[in-house]
Amino acid sequence: MSHEIETRFVHFLHSLRELALPSRKAAGDELYQISTVSALVEGVFDGVRSYGEIRRHGNFGLGTFDALDGEMIALDGRFYQIRSDGSVHPVRDEMTTPFACVIPFHASRKAALPDCRDFAEFAAAADRSLQSENIFYAIRVDGFFPYVRARSVPAQAKPYPRLAEVAKHQTVFELRNLRGAMIGFRFPHYTEGMNVSGYHLHFIDEDRQHGGHVLNMAFEGASLQVDETSQWHVELPSKGDFLSSDLDRADTASQIRQAETA
Ligand SMILES: [Zn+2]
Repeated sequence: MSHEIETRFVHFLHSLRELALPSRKAAGDELYQISTVSALVEGVFDGVRSYGEIRRHGNFGLGTFDALDGEMIALDGRFYQIRSDGSVHPVRDEMTTPFACVIPFHASRKAALPDCRDFAEFAAAADRSLQSENIFYAIRVDGFFPYVRARSVPAQAKPYPRLAEVAKHQTVFELRNLRGAMIGFRFPHYTEGMNVSGYHLHFIDEDRQHGGHVLNMAFEGASLQVDETSQWHVELPSKGDFLSSDLDRADTASQIRQAETA
């Protein structure tokens, strides 16, 4: 190999290395999201990504399913569907979703949480342990839950209603005295509509028999794990109802509150 070619080859190797390093770092803590919560609010419920694909972006997260058929919770690389009849099923790769948010979860901080009697106490306690209200947090709480008020929603038929209408027919589970994990995200308030601002949490018990979208809870002896990140990758549906829906309606924020916290 002539000296010139050798030099070029070395440069080529260096450029490969430079390309490879940042992407490896980014993969470690990039939040990945398909579609937006404002689209869900407007009834854009067709599955647009398979869970086989979603899994490649994270081992931890939450979401729903095609036709809004239940709540999804993922932790430790295992994905579960919690249907409105309360049954819990492993998620198959070919199942699809109109909305999900996942991350390759690596706790950057672990702490004990004070015992909390409701959602507001949890939010205040968790907020105190976070560095800033302006970046993204994946959050996991493991502990004993004397009480969890969780919900799931039934699969919808077309034409799809708005989310707040669906939430009127949700099933609410009053779960008591279970060990389990509550996982989800805290998004900054300025992201309202793109995601759920503040805390959005799903629960599953340690036997993987009960769970849902958390409306309220109490817990004791709990540990908090936090994975903070400033990287947020959003992928929008490129066809279907997403393109023709009005995603700029004035009541989006109040519709999200009604659907996610009622
Ligand atoms: Zn939810």
